[in-house]
Amino acid sequence: MTTGKINVSVENIFPLIKKFLYSDHEIFLRELVSNGTDATLKLKHLISIGEAKVEYGNPIIEIKVDKDGKKIHIIDQGLGMTADEVEKYINQVAFSGAEEFLDKYKDSAKDSGIIGHFGLGFYSAFMVAEKVEIITKSYKDEPAAHWTCDGSPEFTLEPADKTSRGTEIILHIAEDSLEFLDDSKISGLLNKYNKFMPIPIKFGTRTETLPKPEDAPEDYVNETIEVDNIINNPNPAWTKQPSELSDEDYKNFYRELYPMQFEEPLFNIHLNVDYPFNLTGILYFPKLGTDMQIQKDKIQLYQNQVYVTDNVEGIVPEFLTMLKGVIDSPDIPLNVSRSGLQADGAVKKISNYITRKVADKLKALFNENRADFEAKWNDIKIVLEYGMLSEDKFYEKAGAFVLYPTVDDKYFTLEELKEKLKENQTDKDGKLVVLYAGNKDAQHSYIEAAKEKGYEVLLLDSPIISHLIQKIENDNRDVTFVRVDSDHIDNLIKKDENTISKLSDEEKATLKTSLEAYIPKAYSVQLEAMDSQAAPFIITQPEFMRRMKEMSQTGGGGMFGMGNMPEMYNLVVNTNSDLASSILNTEDKTHQEHLVKQALDLAKLSQNLLKGEALTAFVKRSFEMIK
Ligand code: ADP
Repeated sequence: MTTGKINVSVENIFPLIKKFLYSDHEIFLRELVSNGTDATLKLKHLISIGEAKVEYGNPIIEIKVDKDGKKIHIIDQGLGMTADEVEKYINQVAFSGAEEFLDKYKDSAKDSGIIGHFGLGFYSAFMVAEKVEIITKSYKDEPAAHWTCDGSPEFTLEPADKTSRGTEIILHIAEDSLEFLDDSKISGLLNKYNKFMPIPIKFGTRTETLPKPEDAPEDYVNETIEVDNIINNPNPAWTKQPSELSDEDYKNFYRELYPMQFEEPLFNIHLNVDYPFNLTGILYFPKLGTDMQIQKDKIQLYQNQVYVTDNVEGIVPEFLTMLKGVIDSPDIPLNVSRSGLQADGAVKKISNYITRKVADKLKALFNENRADFEAKWNDIKIVLEYGMLSEDKFYEKAGAFVLYPTVDDKYFTLEELKEKLKENQTDKDGKLVVLYAGNKDAQHSYIEAAKEKGYEVLLLDSPIISHLIQKIENDNRDVTFVRVDSDHIDNLIKKDENTISKLSDEEKATLKTSLEAYIPKAYSVQLEAMDSQAAPFIITQPEFMRRMKEMSQTGGGGMFGMGNMPEMYNLVVNTNSDLASSILNTEDKTHQEHLVKQALDLAKLSQNLLKGEALTAFVKRSFEMIK
């Protein structure tokens, strides 16, 4: 038997490991199963190049929990280690790695900025164990070795009688980590970290019912057998070539990833690149609502089929964190902070690649089956609109597939829309006027007024739309976006012919005075000579002010204070309407007041502004009038 002292300058490294990595104790299992996987894959490689002359067989990794003995066993059938190799790889490599690691992260590990998932390796066993044993038999013709270490830098190394190839790690679980002796805890961890690892992982057994034989008698009782409970899928879809996979395969894999998710994804994007960096993965577009917050953290990051994290911030462009799926890349550095990640050249390339791939896929879907793309538009628009705002590279490509739907469910690209507007929707400066509504119900009467004139009205209802149209206007100087209720329709789209006013300037002045006497200060009265059929009173909200206010509410940088601005409304009165004449010609002041107030309430009603007490009073007054 050999005893010795592991060569570490920190006198007792294990309390330090525990202390600095307090938050992530559970990853010990991932690390040890990864080591078993590596050992198995190494053996496979050695056999394939003729270096190891042994039978590969069907190796698995087994996890056993011994609740009474307070032990966890991790057993692999990989290449194993000789006593010399234990000395070298465990005592020298693993622990010098530990020391280096601690030196590097002593201060920063406590920062929340660190990802918290790094290749901790073998010594992470000491985060949960007070004593660790390794019993290992090399594929080489040498005796097995038994290494024991109780958490101090002292270790023992002696021969063992293990005859089968591979390594067994025995963790004597520390008193403060007994939770890991729960079967459900371990299966939860295996399911989280090892679900797609490349070597089958066994945890316990399960009962399987044998199929009923053809010639089974009447009173046949189903036979059952105990089989290994393999918890992982060693060949997940993303490791295959897109050409090997059908639509159904992609959907099945989605269900594998999100067993609790019953909705099908809209479409998927298979990522597959090996130069200048290595990355595979499958992203899914789920059906998205308009809430951008709750959807995040659904993409899982793997490295060589080992789960790392579901926080892909900094790796995937932010707008795509609303998608689901997996990304597997060994080229993403994990031992750096988030800000370090964003500054990393390789990571930037990965992020750009993903953006481009997503844009290309969207373009292809649009070109291949436009009707289908249109049908899915409402479920994907939030991602695309957010992408246009936040990623210039995506914005440049978006023109080819981003759609602008009308209130009547027609869909235009921006170029198509421009062509359409050229026919009859321009303002007095010749700019194309894009009329839009934010809400079909709330702006119903305005939409109708516009449609009556033969205009197209878009339905743009995303929470970030004001930011996006601001950007589109900046880049397309020939278009201007105006919401249908931002002015009277005849002011929004200028016709050549000017309607002649029935009222003289003097009469207009008198009318204005009468109106202002009864109308609250929040409204500024605007007299317009319009078609006598047009609504006599309408309330409008100037586009610019409303848009700025919306932008400040949805995170428009640099517009502080705007959110507290009062709402500003215009009351547009059609001086050519019969109602305007009646108001002007009514001698009785009480009656005149009635007319103005009733008309104002009606205008408010069609803008959804009549509420509470005012609404009650209006209803009561209206009943009086029809009595
Ligand atoms: P890493 O796996 O990153 O190299 P570890 O500290 O986890 O670092 O392990 C150190 C070394 O010990 C490994 O490189 C490997 O040579 C050896 N080793 C660890 N676990 C096993 C195992 N289950 N079977 C064979 N060798 C192992």
